[in-house]
Amino acid sequence: MRRSVVIVGSGFAGLCMAIRLAEQGRDDFVVLEKADTLGGTWRDNTYPGCACDVQSHLYSFSFAPNPNWTRMFARQEEIRAYLEDLADRYRLRDRIRYGVTVTGAEYDAESGGWTVHTERSASGTSIDTAGGETIDCRFVVWGTGALHEPSVPEIDGLERFDGTVFHSAHWDHGHDLTGEKVAVIGTGASAIQFVPPVAERAAELTLFQRTPPWILPKVDRPISAAERWAFRAFPALQRLYRAAIYARLEARVVGFRNPALMAGLELLAKLHIRRAVADPELRRALTPDYTLGCKRVLISNDYYPALTRDNVNVVTDGIVRVTERGVVTADGAEHEVDTIIFGTGFKVADAFAQLAIVGRDGVKLTDAWRDGAEAHLGTTVAGFPNLFVLVGPNTGLSHSSMVYMIESQVAYVLDCLDLLDRRGARALDTRPERQAAYNAELREKLAGGVWQRGGCRSWYLDENGVNRTLWPDFTFRFRGRTRHADPADLVLTP
Ligand SMILES: Cc1cc2nc3c(=O)[nH]c(=O)nc-3n(C[C@H](O)[C@H](O)[C@H](O)COP(=O)(O)OP(=O)(O)OC[C@H]3O[C@@H](n4cnc5c(N)ncnc54)[C@H](O)[C@@H]3O)c2cc1C
Repeated sequence: MRRSVVIVGSGFAGLCMAIRLAEQGRDDFVVLEKADTLGGTWRDNTYPGCACDVQSHLYSFSFAPNPNWTRMFARQEEIRAYLEDLADRYRLRDRIRYGVTVTGAEYDAESGGWTVHTERSASGTSIDTAGGETIDCRFVVWGTGALHEPSVPEIDGLERFDGTVFHSAHWDHGHDLTGEKVAVIGTGASAIQFVPPVAERAAELTLFQRTPPWILPKVDRPISAAERWAFRAFPALQRLYRAAIYARLEARVVGFRNPALMAGLELLAKLHIRRAVADPELRRALTPDYTLGCKRVLISNDYYPALTRDNVNVVTDGIVRVTERGVVTADGAEHEVDTIIFGTGFKVADAFAQLAIVGRDGVKLTDAWRDGAEAHLGTTVAGFPNLFVLVGPNTGLSHSSMVYMIESQVAYVLDCLDLLDRRGARALDTRPERQAAYNAELREKLAGGVWQRGGCRSWYLDENGVNRTLWPDFTFRFRGRTRHADPADLVLTP
């Protein structure tokens, strides 16, 4: 089968690409999704308390504002419903093929196109999906997500544990935690959301903390019916509201780039701990010793109060092994539990490791990225013509909405397609020297920032300590650079 564009993934990124292509009349595309439904992050993460931590009016598409958000930070079900609704509004249902896992793709210099290899996913239910099909296309857009593959640390003896084990991204809803002894491993963005509701249900909750996160108060509230009416009646009002949120979040970049300025926010975060936690020892354990912003800054009003409950115990000794009955820590204590829940995040660095992507001259993407993932504008990779990566290297944010970045990248892809059309060219590749210069510039900006100088080890950094995750600047600068494809960055094949 030949297509113009194959989009892989149906999260915010894949859907944005599909909507924009359809709007431009570039209808010859297909979305391949390995799961049974769309939504990516917001389909997979169904743990109790799951919600976005960027205000929903900004964490949504600028071209599809939702005046009906019921909270400042919408919960998972509402965000998922928003994405499902978009699939109807933009008539994408017939364009998405579920149960199709893309395993790799090969570039053919002769035709200037790609052959995409697929497998039928175990969970696939779509009847029109042929297993193991290959699809020829001109362009491939990867929207496979950076926070998609759960990361579970290798702990000695874990396989011997007699109880239930699951990761927050694959919550076991069939398992009732009521009255159980529960271990939670990890204190990242997901854990701080599900610990409070689990603590209410469990008989005992033991939280294993390696490094405490910085947590600021969450300015959350329901959005009243009157406000929702006003947003429906006066769309400009909602745009203004969104712009105000955007501006407030963008201001944070100044602090991230100048770690010394974080002292004020650290004071606020320490007051937040002090207000909720009376026990000085627990307060000490919960107070980070690195600069705020070095790891993702979290927001919550119920996490610290949950940790002060009589049935919650915070353990800071390192985990050495798991036995049939529980978790053993470095001090020799065995913490007996019925269930272990991992809130240990995602495998960010090797999001593409499982994919056999072969570009020009037979070069594999895994080889091109052996020393670390690099792209131009986080979107194109030298040696891989007509291939685009959404939410690619250094497009992540620690201060604002990923949806803004996705929209910028999608605009760039469309401009690349327009450029090819205008020049009557077949394929477009990135000049390696432009890609190298772009990445050198990123490294320089990152070097001065809190992510590198803040005295922590975060998932933003790869095993060599290089930050290949974040965009280190104001997001409007990224938008500016992705507005138009600069022909000087590219090699066009006639
Ligand atoms: C719990 C949680 C909360 C978050 N909250 C926020 C927030 O508040 N603000 C923010 O800006 N960001 C947040 N993020 C980051 C979030 O991941 C992004 O904002 C955004 O949802 C990413 O969309 P995506 O389409 O790139 O990836 P995903 O949503 O991960 O979608 C990728 C899709 O690709 C599919 N796929 C993957 N591999 C294949 C394959 N080989 N073949 C076929 N299909 C494949 C997956 O099944 C999935 O549907 C959060 C992340 C998590 C995990």
